Amino acid sequence: MVVSKTATIECVNPATKEIIGAVPIMGPEQVEDTVALAWEAFDSWQLTDFSYRARKVMDVRRVIDKISDEIATLISTENGKPLVESYLAELTGPLDTCVWLAENAERSLRDQTVHLSNPLMSTKQSLLTYEPLGVVGIIAPWNYPFAIPMMSVLAAVMCGNTVVLKPSEKSPLIGIKIGEIFKAAGFPDGVVNVITGDRTTGEALTKTKLAKVIFTGSVEGGSKVMAQVAPNLTPITLELGGKDPAIVLPEAPVEWTAQGLVWGAFTNAGQACASIERVYIVKSKNSDKLIESIVNKAKNLKLGPAIDQEVDIGPMIDEVQLSKVERQVNDARRAGANVLCGGRRRDDLGGFFYEPTVLTNVTHDMEIMREETFGPVMPIMVVETEDEAIELANDSDFGLTASVWSSNLARAEAVARDLNVGTVTLNDCLITHAIPQAPWGGLKKSGFGRSHSHFGLLDLVNIKHINLDSCGGPHRLWWHPYGPSRVATARGGLKFLHSGIVGKPMGLLSFLGNMWLRPKKSPDKHST
Ligand code: NAD
Repeated sequence: MVVSKTATIECVNPATKEIIGAVPIMGPEQVEDTVALAWEAFDSWQLTDFSYRARKVMDVRRVIDKISDEIATLISTENGKPLVESYLAELTGPLDTCVWLAENAERSLRDQTVHLSNPLMSTKQSLLTYEPLGVVGIIAPWNYPFAIPMMSVLAAVMCGNTVVLKPSEKSPLIGIKIGEIFKAAGFPDGVVNVITGDRTTGEALTKTKLAKVIFTGSVEGGSKVMAQVAPNLTPITLELGGKDPAIVLPEAPVEWTAQGLVWGAFTNAGQACASIERVYIVKSKNSDKLIESIVNKAKNLKLGPAIDQEVDIGPMIDEVQLSKVERQVNDARRAGANVLCGGRRRDDLGGFFYEPTVLTNVTHDMEIMREETFGPVMPIMVVETEDEAIELANDSDFGLTASVWSSNLARAEAVARDLNVGTVTLNDCLITHAIPQAPWGGLKKSGFGRSHSHFGLLDLVNIKHINLDSCGGPHRLWWHPYGPSRVATARGGLKFLHSGIVGKPMGLLSFLGNMWLRPKKSPDKHST
């Protein structure tokens, strides 16, 4: 990404450094105009019913399917990931989401009655309805530039909201393509809007009148956005970074585990929020064999541009990202880490390439074990016990995902329950973002709120409680006028409901004995 004087962003193919397009950096006025359009569209979109929205979402699926090759090629060109990853990691989630939303959103958000247990509520009924919020601002990162924003936009519009999407300045062409897909699917104007620009455009968006902000990006960006929305008290969901641990138990099969760890650390050149960024191997007779197998597999991965279908690993997104990875690895090396393979940039390949790197002899004092790397680096620690592995895995400011590797599922599940994260996968990693039925989100600096699934839908609606009273029965105990008999009734009622075996009968007597007495007040009390 290069910002030129004419306030445009030049889009760069990270595998070749070629400029492949340019988009405007929209300023606050354009952003406000777009948000106003989205509010206008909300007036009618919120009134559409679920079956209409389900049909529109399935139209999106048809459009994606029709132009899937074009989308995958654009993703691989602007973002650099191999084509297999563009199809599997970028298109699967959105396509499955279309189907899941069309088939389940109505059921998920159907009116619900709530059981009221207190006898004083016996004349009342409670009803929950789920209403659209309004305009949702979606601010997206570059690393999964199609899947991440697409799945959020789909869920938001399915709930009856309208959307203003700000894609990353490092992948704006894919963001624009998302807008075109909704247009081609016949969505009314103003329901899905895409604005292009850098973080100043995103900042302008967060300062407009929005019903909700969904921010996916760095911890630094997330904390700034939180401050930016604070004056308007706009609700926010934050999907931030990770430093995701993998725990390998002694019985884990060597080849399977090595292959899984290598994929989890190096797919998308390690630029995934849920990449494996720390490996804890519980010591066994297989530990050395496992590390050897990991290194052999990492060495055999082919780096190059996505246009070559033999390529396993694409480039980093830009020089900023590449330099950050380089610095973290060099710092670790200086502090005593062993570089078993990789550990160097590959300028000879023409783009922002960095070799898949495996490190041992690392410690939790090193930045490589504490801060997000977001690159193709796998630091490994061999530990003595399962408990030590759990303790080290939890010793992190992040809490997005974790993985546990073992042929003993019961044992692996027990470890999973001890990990402080939003998602744990056993014998695989990373893939659950693409599952529309399961919630996605983290703890600690990885953010808060949940996307995807029933829980993600609840994040996108106003849960309205309607409490109905039939106007029948006695005068309400809590209404005026008060007086000593009302105090006795209230006290007795509470004792009856919540005291132990001795207090209950006394409470009931006091309640019944006083509840029919009209409270008396002396006339002079009225005047004060
Ligand atoms: P980033 O924070 O630099 O930018 C993300 C988006 O926010 C971009 O569109 C950017 O223009 C915008 N932005 C940045 N600062 C802003 C501000 N102050 N106000 C409004 N908008 C602002 O992050 P990135 O480099 O694009 O993405 C990589 C990060 O995203 C990594 O940390 C990664 O772990 C994280 N991520 C998290 C998830 C998740 O689901 N938890 C998924 C993907 C990526």
